[in-house]
Amino acid sequence: MAEFHSIVEGRMQSRGRDAFGSGQPGASRGHRSHMGIDVIAFPMQKILSPIGGEVIREAFPYKDDPSMRGVLIRGNGDYTGWEIKLFYVLGLFSGEVRPGDLIGHAQNLASKYPGITNHVHMEVLRSSIKVDPREPFRQCF
Ligand SMILES: [Zn+2]
Repeated sequence: MAEFHSIVEGRMQSRGRDAFGSGQPGASRGHRSHMGIDVIAFPMQKILSPIGGEVIREAFPYKDDPSMRGVLIRGNGDYTGWEIKLFYVLGLFSGEVRPGDLIGHAQNLASKYPGITNHVHMEVLRSSIKVDPREPFRQCF
């Protein structure tokens, strides 16, 4: 399997428990469960593409809050079949990306979630099905 690049410079660290819950896969969110993993990132920290592919479109985490932004990356080449969704990322680039290319900057979540561990929410899909992001990123966490 092709190696996935960290989405931040250096080693990724995932969000543990804070006042808003846990950033781990499967954590409770009321009636739903958290389908991604939260990677700790300070506001305006550089966010890198984990895979080679194409930036397809923006992806919005909340229908009622367009200030929160994100991006969908579709893999090609060694990464064909993979898709990565990143939420709370601003300043998006578009078109072809290689692993490690800059694709945006982390947003500041303090006004929406005061006291939360600032992070980028990441979902990983393979053949359009959400998978546990810890598997492809094992070497990064
Ligand atoms: Zn999350």
